[in-house]
Amino acid sequence: MDLIERSAEDLANSKYAIALTGAGISTESGIPDFRGPKGIWTTDKEAEAKAYERYELFLKDPKAYWEEIQTTKYGEFYRKPREAQPNPGHYALAELEKLGILKFTVTQNIDGLHQKAGSKNVFDYHGSVNKLRCISCGSRFEIWEISPDDLPPHCRDCGKPLKYDVVHFKEPIPEDIRGSAEKEALKCDLMLICGTSAVVYPFANLPRIAKYRSGKLGYKLDTKIIEINAEPTSLTAEGISDYLIQGKTGEILPQIVKKVKEILPLPSHQ
Ligand code: NAD
Repeated sequence: MDLIERSAEDLANSKYAIALTGAGISTESGIPDFRGPKGIWTTDKEAEAKAYERYELFLKDPKAYWEEIQTTKYGEFYRKPREAQPNPGHYALAELEKLGILKFTVTQNIDGLHQKAGSKNVFDYHGSVNKLRCISCGSRFEIWEISPDDLPPHCRDCGKPLKYDVVHFKEPIPEDIRGSAEKEALKCDLMLICGTSAVVYPFANLPRIAKYRSGKLGYKLDTKIIEINAEPTSLTAEGISDYLIQGKTGEILPQIVKKVKEILPLPSHQ
């Protein structure tokens, strides 16, 4: 049995499957990843250095933070994804959710493409370019709700300066999202990991939580962990994943969905 068929059977037999996704699933929508061969940081070291300073810049000077995002090339990283369209990989995951197989998608991506493709149950672990967030009271606002003319924008609930909802380096993951994602990792019996190098923590803990969780909470222990990635990752090397399907998510995921549909019983007409 080839790995596409094997993964389709595993998905069809699962009771509570979730997906974890990373920048790799969106490269076929024209959004570069960070660390792949054509990644933003592989090709622009200054952009990487700036990204590491961004959260501290917001804490020190919110106006300068917004000016950098609005007026320099570094803002492209937040503006461009809003124009991108989902690719067959995003649509395949949305279809798995619609079929009732995939219960949640936890994404590191900030591009909102899972929602654009029709997925409903999505946790944006690193936030979204479509939202702004108040780090004082936790309120989130759609980007179009806030006027960009007056920098920095302010929270309508508590009046403090707003930042992008996007989680920057050295910024903690918002507790609501972190807690919900960990709960899903504890609960799932299948984790489908798509297009991530799994080196950014605490996100990269989620597969490890699923693999090594304690049985004390009464959840099932034999979680299947399947990776779809262009290259092997630390999860492959450490044996966290049961198997790797190596290749493009936009090509592999639709094939898996096709097989799943062949395996699933036909809906009854009663
Ligand atoms: P990463 O760049 O570290 O790793 C991406 C992985 O996907 C690499 O292993 C690469 O080989 C693989 N890959 C690339 N194209 C692929 C494809 N078509 N099919 C299958 N695999 C493919 O990305 P990461 O692990 O998500 O972590 C980086 C951080 O970057 C995340 O925190 C995320 O917030 C941020 N990011 C997001 C976007 C986005 O929203 N689209 C883009 C760039 C970076």
